[in-house]
Amino acid sequence: MGRIVYVNGEYVDEAEAKISVFDRGFLFADAVYEVSSVLNGQLIDNNGHLTRLHRSLNELSLDAPASDAEIETAQKALIEKNNLKEGLVYLQVSRGAADRAFHFPENTPTSLVMFTQELNVINSPAAEKGLAIITVPDIRWGRRDIKTVQLLAPSLAKMAAKNAGADDAWMEENGYITEGSSNNAYIITQDGTIVTRHLGNEILAGITRKAIVRLADENNMKVEERLFTADEAKAAAEAFISSATTFVTAVVSLDGQQIGDGKPGPITQKLREFYIEEALASIQ
Ligand code: PMP
Repeated sequence: MGRIVYVNGEYVDEAEAKISVFDRGFLFADAVYEVSSVLNGQLIDNNGHLTRLHRSLNELSLDAPASDAEIETAQKALIEKNNLKEGLVYLQVSRGAADRAFHFPENTPTSLVMFTQELNVINSPAAEKGLAIITVPDIRWGRRDIKTVQLLAPSLAKMAAKNAGADDAWMEENGYITEGSSNNAYIITQDGTIVTRHLGNEILAGITRKAIVRLADENNMKVEERLFTADEAKAAAEAFISSATTFVTAVVSLDGQQIGDGKPGPITQKLREFYIEEALASIQ
């Protein structure tokens, strides 16, 4: 037996799980998703993820497939059924199955799918070593603030990184970094200011980003939400990424150029510690 996954109210073995070939998530990428991390068998910052899920649903006139309480109950049940200690819970809401047509179908219930994945989020080798990043053009659509499953451009970005012998990619548009292929991007200037792009349609408002900006603030670290270029990043003291599954992970080179001393920097490490400390405290 494989994993137990959740499909529209049922808990089934992954081999038995079925979604229609007419599902609009499959045919049109007409679906949104969320990823919540799991530590010690418990969800981290899940309210933030469910809040953003509602925003994504609203922006696309999608109906919520279940109440937040029902979704969270199912997430917890999946963690339990799969005996997941550390990793993630993925959830996806699609507009459901209907004859193929561009207009949204009427009276078609949305579909909800969830599954778990194991992952070392705390003792991550990438966080120890730091990431080598390349820049790629940001070829995604204009509403990156909505967390849709249109992930072909990020897949291509990650493959470009892999083929270049790097760990990941940062995307660039009009001369500025937008964000990472599946994370928010930050630099720390020589005077210790944490810089990350301001929110807008061009990037996803990371739930981890929100926590980091707040934690930096609470610890009297200076944060600027503004544009920055790859050149500024290369000249920075430190750089890092954030996401639900990487927390805070250092970036040690950009397009082959070392950042700082080529090791995870002290401010980056502090922020990672702050984030993990708070996450662990939230599940005591
Ligand atoms: N930007 C993009 C493009 C992402 O895919 C993600 C992670 N899904 C993030 C930022 C980080 O968001 P979060 O901290 O909510 O995981």
